[in-house]
Amino acid sequence: MSKNVVIVGGGAAGILAALGASKAGHKVTILEKNEKLGKKIYITGKGRCNVTNASSMEEVRNHVISNPKFMYSSFDQFTNEDLMKLIEEEGIPLKTERGNRVFPVSDKSSDILKALSSALKKNKVKVELHTTVKKLLLESVNDEMICTGVEAADGKAYKADVVILATGGLSYPSTGSTGDGFKFSQAGGHKITALRPALVPLETKEEWVPSLQGLSLRNVEVEFKQGKKKLYSDFGEMLFTHFGVTGPVILSGSSFIGKALEKPEKGEVKLKINLKPALSDEQLDARILRDFEENKNKQFGNSLGGLLPAKMIPVIVDLVGIDKTKKVCEVSKAERRRLVELLHNLTMTITKPREFKEAIITQGGVSVKQINPTTMDSKLVKGLKFAGEMIDVDAHTGGYNLQIAWSTGWAAGRTIEG
Ligand SMILES: Cc1cc2nc3c(=O)[nH]c(=O)nc-3n(C[C@H](O)[C@H](O)[C@H](O)COP(=O)(O)OP(=O)(O)OC[C@H]3O[C@@H](n4cnc5c(N)ncnc54)[C@H](O)[C@@H]3O)c2cc1C
Repeated sequence: MSKNVVIVGGGAAGILAALGASKAGHKVTILEKNEKLGKKIYITGKGRCNVTNASSMEEVRNHVISNPKFMYSSFDQFTNEDLMKLIEEEGIPLKTERGNRVFPVSDKSSDILKALSSALKKNKVKVELHTTVKKLLLESVNDEMICTGVEAADGKAYKADVVILATGGLSYPSTGSTGDGFKFSQAGGHKITALRPALVPLETKEEWVPSLQGLSLRNVEVEFKQGKKKLYSDFGEMLFTHFGVTGPVILSGSSFIGKALEKPEKGEVKLKINLKPALSDEQLDARILRDFEENKNKQFGNSLGGLLPAKMIPVIVDLVGIDKTKKVCEVSKAERRRLVELLHNLTMTITKPREFKEAIITQGGVSVKQINPTTMDSKLVKGLKFAGEMIDVDAHTGGYNLQIAWSTGWAAGRTIEG
């Protein structure tokens, strides 16, 4: 029997939920507050949309940070290959780049939207734009809570057999993701776990950091720590800004330090950068000695050009506490040791993450304990399902977060029983 399905939110998860449900023969309406579907999809992957990751699904699951076990079933029901097939069948060819990241060949995220919109049309999904949902219609029948539809901001009621909430998180609210679904879920008795910006730039305390604004470092090793506890380590590229640090390894690290930052009593969160990870202390010392040898008559402050980017030299000279006018031949062994130590352990204090409006994703959401991982059904409210970023699941960058949205969306729609 065909059911009347209302989906709140026309992002990645809502669109896949609509396809899953309509392909199963149900009558589907998407209610989207924006003037178009998938506003966030347009800005993904810097406008290129890293639509999924082509690694094995086991590997994809390994990149899920919060609640990876919750993803077993939906990743099984709708894989990265299913997504690629869906997009390519709509005439948009895809390509796989470094790290198995998948993009449209055109490098245009708008092409992904074209493919999805075409699929929605073929499956006769009704889309109502400019429609902001204000609340769930909830009824209590024999001690059981039932969702019977939603009410829009203009007061119009949309009755439904099944409502799928796919309103996203709190990140980039300009795309429409303003956390409305969290409020709706709470009204139905659901627990929302702590919400934190993640995959987000980080602010630092040290006054010297802003002087490095614009400096990008490649092939550095970073380590985040609170006291003795190691929170995250990585190798790659980072960037200094006027407020702190950003870039791939910093964004990744940000997903692992949120809780620690909320517990200052356990100590400050430190970011340690190894500027020369390929060299041991001894090798780096030998390298410095060689440079000094070649610059015998130079002052220390003018002798580090071969070792460091120009912008960084005044900062390192200052932090190491060696007189910059000292001749290099007068720099002592102990001073050199301090320099080696500093280049291997340039340390900053993280004060806080930047705000949600700069965060690629929201960490936290509707508790997975209250959601059936196969059907995305609420365990508390009959006729209510969840999909996408509003669930307490998040992942690394690399196409994994969109795959979470595609898979949970599909599972929510496809498992609606007739
Ligand atoms: C800058 C940026 C780049 C990113 N790049 C990538 C990438 O390349 N690869 C990747 O895998 N992930 C990327 N992500 C993450 C990814 O985009 C999200 O995880 C994913 O889009 C979440 O999809 P969703 O459908 O759950 O939520 P959303 O995309 O947030 O969609 C929710 C929708 O619900 C609508 N809505 C909200 N409230 C209401 C309401 N009350 N009534 C009606 N409609 C409502 C919103 O307008 C919105 O359209 C990126 C994120 C950002 C911010």
